[in-house]
Amino acid sequence: MPQSPASPTAKPLTGPQRALRKLGLLRPIDLALHLPLRYEDETRLVKLRDVREGETAQVEGRVTHAEVKLGGHRQLLVTLDDGSGTCLLRFFTFYPSQQKALAVGNRIRVRGEIRGGFAGLTMMHPVVKLAGGELATALTPVYPTVAGLPQTYLRRAVQAGLARAELADTVPSQYLQAIGLHPSWDLRQALSFLHNPASDVLLDTLQDHSHPAWQRLKAEELLAQQLSQLQSRRARDQLRAPTLTGAGANSLFERLLAALPFQLTAAQQRVVGEISQDIARSIPMHRLLQGDVGAGKTVVAALAAAQCMDAGWQCALMAPTEILATQHFAKLVGWLQPLGVTVAWLTGSQKAKERRDMLALIASGQAALVVGTHALIQDKVQFQKLALAIIDEQHRFGVAQRLALRGKLGSQLQEPHLLMMTATPIPRTLAMSYYADLDVSTIDALPPGRTPIVTKVVNDARRDEVIARIRDQLVQGRQIYWVCPLIEENEALDLRNATEIHAQLRAALPGVLVGLLHSRMAPLEKKAVMSLFVGGQMGVLVSTTVIEVGVDVPNASLMVIEHAERFGLSQLHQLRGRVGRGAAASACVLLYATGDAPRLGEAARERLKAMVQSNDGFEIARRDLEIRGPGEFMGARQSGDAMLRFADVVTDAPLLDWARRLAPLMLDQHPAQAEQHVQRWLGSRTDYLKA
Ligand code: ADP
Ligand code: MG
Repeated sequence: MPQSPASPTAKPLTGPQRALRKLGLLRPIDLALHLPLRYEDETRLVKLRDVREGETAQVEGRVTHAEVKLGGHRQLLVTLDDGSGTCLLRFFTFYPSQQKALAVGNRIRVRGEIRGGFAGLTMMHPVVKLAGGELATALTPVYPTVAGLPQTYLRRAVQAGLARAELADTVPSQYLQAIGLHPSWDLRQALSFLHNPASDVLLDTLQDHSHPAWQRLKAEELLAQQLSQLQSRRARDQLRAPTLTGAGANSLFERLLAALPFQLTAAQQRVVGEISQDIARSIPMHRLLQGDVGAGKTVVAALAAAQCMDAGWQCALMAPTEILATQHFAKLVGWLQPLGVTVAWLTGSQKAKERRDMLALIASGQAALVVGTHALIQDKVQFQKLALAIIDEQHRFGVAQRLALRGKLGSQLQEPHLLMMTATPIPRTLAMSYYADLDVSTIDALPPGRTPIVTKVVNDARRDEVIARIRDQLVQGRQIYWVCPLIEENEALDLRNATEIHAQLRAALPGVLVGLLHSRMAPLEKKAVMSLFVGGQMGVLVSTTVIEVGVDVPNASLMVIEHAERFGLSQLHQLRGRVGRGAAASACVLLYATGDAPRLGEAARERLKAMVQSNDGFEIARRDLEIRGPGEFMGARQSGDAMLRFADVVTDAPLLDWARRLAPLMLDQHPAQAEQHVQRWLGSRTDYLKA
């Protein structure tokens, strides 16, 4: 296979070149922006009496002992004496030439991490040189790398990139004062410094990124992110979408509103208004609707769909799982069919005939509303005139899938409006940074009449008490969820866990219908189990995490989560949100087991504590961000997205604020520099960011 698809005559890439490519280090500027993780100090020698365990040290001394130890692991043991102390050097692989260099009496210079232990100070596989050579004049950078790409190669490549990269300043210097940055720290200066810091710099300021050179880089990175998102928003503003204006008193919208068994909350009314205004414009909407679990997002989606259908266009609603899509379908049919709407239905598990019928309904435009899973974005699906795409639990979908749904509009000239829904609220700082290109609507209050869910953390040893509680709820006619975690990447084991609990509960609860739901079941089986639970015949539902999103059974009043310590915080909150949907008092029991450990780890304890202390999705999200940090929190957005490498939206909030303000100014007053800035920082990734 040719290594480079670019040109048949191109030379095959070497291993390190391939590795550079894998890291995305293609252009000189990419290399220049590949910044060190940390530095090693080869500018000085230290005395063994002064070194501390864990630090990397460079020492010179004389070899006083050397032996090859056999048995177990063959290893070369060398004792180094520098006059202030001794250190044991340990090598598990070594050549005869190395052995010679390490002979007794030789003076050598070694560098490596100091370890303690009962043999005294030790270094494993230190770098060995002859003593007396020149010392480095700058700190030695250590870069993030991958297998097959040695630091020395990477260092040379970075230095070459730095020399060749075009680094003219793009940020007008008058804007730098606001963040206290001296203009002398221009991009070139900052980068040269970070790749070759002077030996007298305070290492701490490099390590914690507080050094002005780092500030400059972080400010630039945040500015690139904000500019790119603002560009994509402005590009979108140039596109055209169907105008879906409201249609008076006898419209579907008004009739649906009148037929609902409840009144919209003030928060729902507000977001319905926001969406309604957006889709009545000829610019494609990109709006994120966030609201806690149970806040009532579905009805908001249904009203947006109604407005779309009133204008004579089709609407699609895509959900990440078959169960969730089924629920949406049932609910929307219940609301809209009586009003004369044909709702089509598309999933992967459909029979061929049904599927063909549905495709025909969609293509002819007879089905004004289409509900389904990923099946909606397959090639065969042709809408007659799609104007509004609604994506539930949007974080479950990748960028490519969102793009595909947008591409479903028949005409090249228009884009559909896009409404994305999420029950995982995004803390403000993250929303401002990562979702700056979206408009956000928030349902910030639950429908009335809900009693807050009481959450308890219970040791696994007390599960009998939990079962007693289940009996009690069953007597009151209530239903119960019991959720088991993914224990490991081993479906068979996970399944056994759920199956065992299912058996236990069946034995403990004679006469009660106890169901089991897991990911290995066929869609039809799943559907059958779900419908027994939704219909109320099934008292207890044992499940792996397949029920996580969106399921709505108001009569369920108790949620038991097995091995709660293994779940992430937002997932726990989502699961808990399955109960507390009716007027009855509801509870959530977080069962935990410490395994062989005496107690739970710090992070797990923090998560469970947060669950007990708060029922509020926004507060939970804030705590989650605190516990996990923004990188992981945003993990779901993943590849191609504007992940920040250097800046941290929480600790660098002032820089983010600055970037947010500067972005529109730059685009208006210095458009060429703005474009250059985005290209430099995001290069080939920008296409993806427009999704
Ligand atoms: P989520 O925001 O988690 O998707 P749902 O849309 O599933 O929430 O709504 C949860 C439940 O609340 C549903 O049973 C829904 O019919 C009900 N509901 C929605 N809005 C209201 C309201 N304004 N008053 C009373 N119940 C409501
Ligand atoms: Mg929902």
